[in-house]
Amino acid sequence: MIEIVPEKEEILKVENLKMYFPVTKGLLKRKVGDVKAVDDVSFTVNKGETLGIVGESGSGKSTIGNCVMRNLNITSGTITYKGRDISYMKNEELRAVHSKLQMITQNPFESLDPRMTVLDIIMEGPRIRNSARSIYEQTAYTKELLEKVGLNPEYIDRYPHEFSGGQRQRISIARSLAMQPEFIVCDEIVSALDVSIQAQIVKLMMRLQEEYNMSYIFIGHDLSVVRYLSDNIAVMYLGKIMEYTNAETLYDNPLHPYTQALISAVPIPDPVVDRERKRILLEGEVPSPINPPKGCNFCTRCPYATEECREAEPEYKEVEEGHFVACHRVKKGGA
Ligand code: SF4
Repeated sequence: MIEIVPEKEEILKVENLKMYFPVTKGLLKRKVGDVKAVDDVSFTVNKGETLGIVGESGSGKSTIGNCVMRNLNITSGTITYKGRDISYMKNEELRAVHSKLQMITQNPFESLDPRMTVLDIIMEGPRIRNSARSIYEQTAYTKELLEKVGLNPEYIDRYPHEFSGGQRQRISIARSLAMQPEFIVCDEIVSALDVSIQAQIVKLMMRLQEEYNMSYIFIGHDLSVVRYLSDNIAVMYLGKIMEYTNAETLYDNPLHPYTQALISAVPIPDPVVDRERKRILLEGEVPSPINPPKGCNFCTRCPYATEECREAEPEYKEVEEGHFVACHRVKKGGA
């Protein structure tokens, strides 16, 4: 029997994205350089799939999310959403696209207006876009959304301070769902929550993705969480993607020394195996993005760095099908 594999539908394509922030000095604000927060990054996300982006703070992962959302005016590159170039789109045109692109951020304590009820928070977007109807319909819709995210629909008239961190993040998710999004950027959405609550929110996001066939970018610094719900993962360091492949391959066969170090730090549930495996400890801090090292961005912390690494930037190349790595040490075929 011939198995028919459905073709993947590309929903987001980011090509050669650069986001530089000028660094100025003195009263006259003379430009003295750039922070290369995102430096020549490319990836795609297919319909119904999740791209995980991992890296330490300062790696540029949240900046990518804000560029995709067009909260920032990008320095250069192309962002194509459902076949339309939205890289430099403005005003009405951008607003029309925006309702289908939503972002949920890390801190549910800051992202909800403490003076608004749950009903007003969730219906704010539809009201701005005039897609809300009568108050009865708004109430019914809000209750339906609260149920979808696992909250009691009777909470509709409560205020944010009456909820726990996990419940507030559920309200943030319901607020995004109210816009019937096709794509959500989840920026460290579980980082501020307890571990047990993290698992619940991740499961909720997976259930909603399946139900609505949404695509996600899931940004985080904890590889064990990101791996759980990602189809593909990009590992970032100092504004660049160091390694990109599907979640399984990344975990089972990491090729970049930075990815290997990150994975070696992920706890294994079996304490015997966990105790015996080799951990790769990275020394030093992430260098300043204003003054990144010459050659490979990772050369100041890499245990395998050579003269070549300190002189020449490694090419970001496909070493196996769908597996991209930026490292002089890794040759075609993944050796
Ligand atoms: Fe390490 Fe060199 Fe590879 Fe960079 S290019 S990750 S410094 S081995």
